[in-house]
Amino acid sequence: MKKKVAIIGGGPAAFLLAAFLDAEKFSVTIYEKNKTSGRKFLVAGKGGFNLTHSEAVEQLIQRYTPDDFLANALSHFSNTDFRNWLDQIGIPTYIGSSKRVYPKKGIKPIEVLNAILKHLKEKSVVIKYEHTFSDWDQYGNVIINNQAISANYTVFSLGGSSWKVTGSDGGWLDTFSKKGIQTKAFQASNCGYHINWKADFIKKNEGTPLKNIAISCNNIVQKGEAVITTYGLEGNAIYGLSPQIREQLQTNSTARVYIDFKPSLTLEKIHSKIHLSKYRTTTDILKKELKLSTPAIDLLKTYLSKDSYLDTQSLAINIKEFSLEITHTTSLDEAISTVGGIDLKAVSDQFELKKLPHQFCVGEMLDWDAPTGGYLLQACASTGVFLADYLNKIR
Ligand SMILES: Cc1cc2nc3c(=O)[nH]c(=O)nc-3n(C[C@H](O)[C@H](O)[C@H](O)COP(=O)(O)OP(=O)(O)OC[C@H]3O[C@@H](n4cnc5c(N)ncnc54)[C@H](O)[C@@H]3O)c2cc1C
Repeated sequence: MKKKVAIIGGGPAAFLLAAFLDAEKFSVTIYEKNKTSGRKFLVAGKGGFNLTHSEAVEQLIQRYTPDDFLANALSHFSNTDFRNWLDQIGIPTYIGSSKRVYPKKGIKPIEVLNAILKHLKEKSVVIKYEHTFSDWDQYGNVIINNQAISANYTVFSLGGSSWKVTGSDGGWLDTFSKKGIQTKAFQASNCGYHINWKADFIKKNEGTPLKNIAISCNNIVQKGEAVITTYGLEGNAIYGLSPQIREQLQTNSTARVYIDFKPSLTLEKIHSKIHLSKYRTTTDILKKELKLSTPAIDLLKTYLSKDSYLDTQSLAINIKEFSLEITHTTSLDEAISTVGGIDLKAVSDQFELKKLPHQFCVGEMLDWDAPTGGYLLQACASTGVFLADYLNKIR
């Protein structure tokens, strides 16, 4: 007789787990509370759909916080394995100039989801929609739609707590805490950050990008782009600093980040370019000699004192290390991902809940963090496949 696996929550972590469970050994049912599954996966597809990132796996592992928790899973099912699998189910991918991995041009997110769901159907995985987990009964069986479900193995893949409209509302956190499972409050990650812009600056620059910059916080540097918004900054260069910014906000109630507007040039080179420039006005030097964008020049002009702006040494230092104060994050619901959820101390190396043998957690509901760029989906896929192969080996 086949053993029963109940997977609760129908997102990418659940899909990859179900896809890799041995169909000869297990009968697999996914219980999803929505009328459809993979809604957050489709939201991810609306922007740049980064399925994974193509960098070497050793480097990829370093992008996660903490990096040791996911190392086994990421090595077991790497970014190359993920791409190969997608290819096998009819979704070829390509590597963009940013090294992020996308579905081949012309393939829509819904087609990626449909290919995965078709594959699961071929493997006889059953998906039960409008099935909501609410608690456990006295024997430790999960209660779904007010009925206890008995399974040999139960896997939770309930997601984080942002974009609640997709179903990933984190409503399960209290239920797990009450069961005595260690949890942590959700916090926004990969989110926008509030800055008290001066009115005249934001009026002119709202919606403009700061391209090819580097931003640092606690000595961690992220290169990329940030967009100036009415409330502050968003974009990959600042998203990637979420763990550091969160830490500073927690200890100091504000956080400080430093923008390097010209990461390709050293401070000395910038200083000598300004010093030796044939242009007469500082604005012309910044624009023509250093090719700084209008919002970057406006930031320097608005926020530096006149003396600092006109002093070549001080100006060069500020081009390399322009200081900005972050007051808080955008709301949890607007975040691309969340941290918090199941405390990593609550699970074994195989993601089994120490309090509830034979019950596991995978995907974003575990308290790890990663920047955008494909790392989030990769970790969801890797935790799912790692667990599937662990269960496949159990006699
Ligand atoms: C705007 C946006 C853009 C993104 N872009 C990218 C990107 O380009 N690349 C990338 O790698 N990642 C991206 N992500 C992140 C990525 O989508 C998530 O990390 C990923 O979907 C998490 O997968 P998961 O399987 O852990 O959970 P989810 O996808 O969140 O799925 C969890 C499922 O559990 C269900 N559920 C919740 N509670 C219950 C319950 N009580 N009973 C039954 N079912 C329940 C939910 O309805 C949901 O369907 C993006 C996210 C957002 C919001």
